[in-house]
Amino acid sequence: MNLTRRNFNRLAITSAATALIPRASAQSSERRLRYAIVGLGRISVNCFMPAIRASSTSEITALVSGSPEKARRLASQYGVPESSIYSYEQFDRIRENAEIDAVYIGLPNGMHAEYTIRAAHAGKHVLCEKPMATTEEEARAMIVACRHARRKLMIGYRCQLEATTLHVKQLIQSGQLGKIHSIESANGFNTPAGEWRLNRKLAGGGPLLDVGIYLLNACRFLLGEEPARVSAFSSVIDRDGRFDQVEETIAWTMKFPTGTIATCSTSYGADMEGFYRIHGSKGVITVQPAFSYLGIRMVGQIGEEPIDDPDKASFPDEFIRETDHFSRCVLEDRQPGPSGEEGLKDMEWIAQIYKSAAAQS
Ligand code: NAD
Repeated sequence: MNLTRRNFNRLAITSAATALIPRASAQSSERRLRYAIVGLGRISVNCFMPAIRASSTSEITALVSGSPEKARRLASQYGVPESSIYSYEQFDRIRENAEIDAVYIGLPNGMHAEYTIRAAHAGKHVLCEKPMATTEEEARAMIVACRHARRKLMIGYRCQLEATTLHVKQLIQSGQLGKIHSIESANGFNTPAGEWRLNRKLAGGGPLLDVGIYLLNACRFLLGEEPARVSAFSSVIDRDGRFDQVEETIAWTMKFPTGTIATCSTSYGADMEGFYRIHGSKGVITVQPAFSYLGIRMVGQIGEEPIDDPDKASFPDEFIRETDHFSRCVLEDRQPGPSGEEGLKDMEWIAQIYKSAAAQS
């Protein structure tokens, strides 16, 4: 069972409870970054909005939704005035709202580029969910739009700000694990029919863009280098109409310049609890769950010595770190990361993975 997806469902069930997450207090003199939430789906409502409520750096001052009823309900829950609820058609009017500093984009992948560019034109900073876009061209246009508008752009790779992941990276980069020979990883879930995730225009691709991107990003981030080569296979096993537009399963291998070989697989046809295992010449680390909302856990050893997991964080800590980081960077005029350029790199490798899979089909 995929814990990441199960967490999502559990959070959905308990979403009413998120209203009970206490609002963090801030000194009255402290300024909070004021967000418009764009798209009131699962990630926004169950994860990001409760994290803002618990953060001392951020607040929600506007909502953008196609559902006025849902927007009004959440507005009353979060203290957003009705005058700051916008439909998608009215989105550009956020320019006139001085109570909005930034937007958080929790829309289907195929809408990320459009709403990032429109937000930048409206003079707002952007925290956009992963995947940054559906193509390299869209990603480049997003970077250019934010740069021209002198607005900050960050991509929601929350694991890059998470303590266990950072500890694993430090163990690799300091040489404590020795030479890294291989990484194995997987992440996936059995997608129900009818999801936008199965629609090419809205999703841009299949599980690779949605959950496989975690594996690609983790390998690049942890090793601190770009692959030298990739090779991929994709397949559709379930001929039940779900996979007429996107791949069902895709697996790829990346060889890195130092010689590390990473093998990754992702699927919309099978539940795969997100994990990666890193084999070094001096030790081994397994991170599982590796991408969960409820906490990331590692076990490992260097020689005979077990490695401690430094982080026992739980929901919504990861999302609070993310919002705090972005908010502080904007408020203090620092460049936030993971940057748009980081998101673009993944888009470039995703294009290579699809190209290789197409050549081998
Ligand atoms: P969701 O389906 O739950 O929410 C999507 C929202 O977009 C809904 O409010 C929906 O009404 C709205 N929407 C507007 N136009 C739409 C259209 N034409 N078709 C469908 N929906 C439309 O999706 P989600 O699972 O919350 O994912 C949203 C984004 O967040 C995706 O890009 C996904 O990859 C990303 N995500 C990130 C994480 C993470 O941990 N960082 C986790 C889950 C999802």
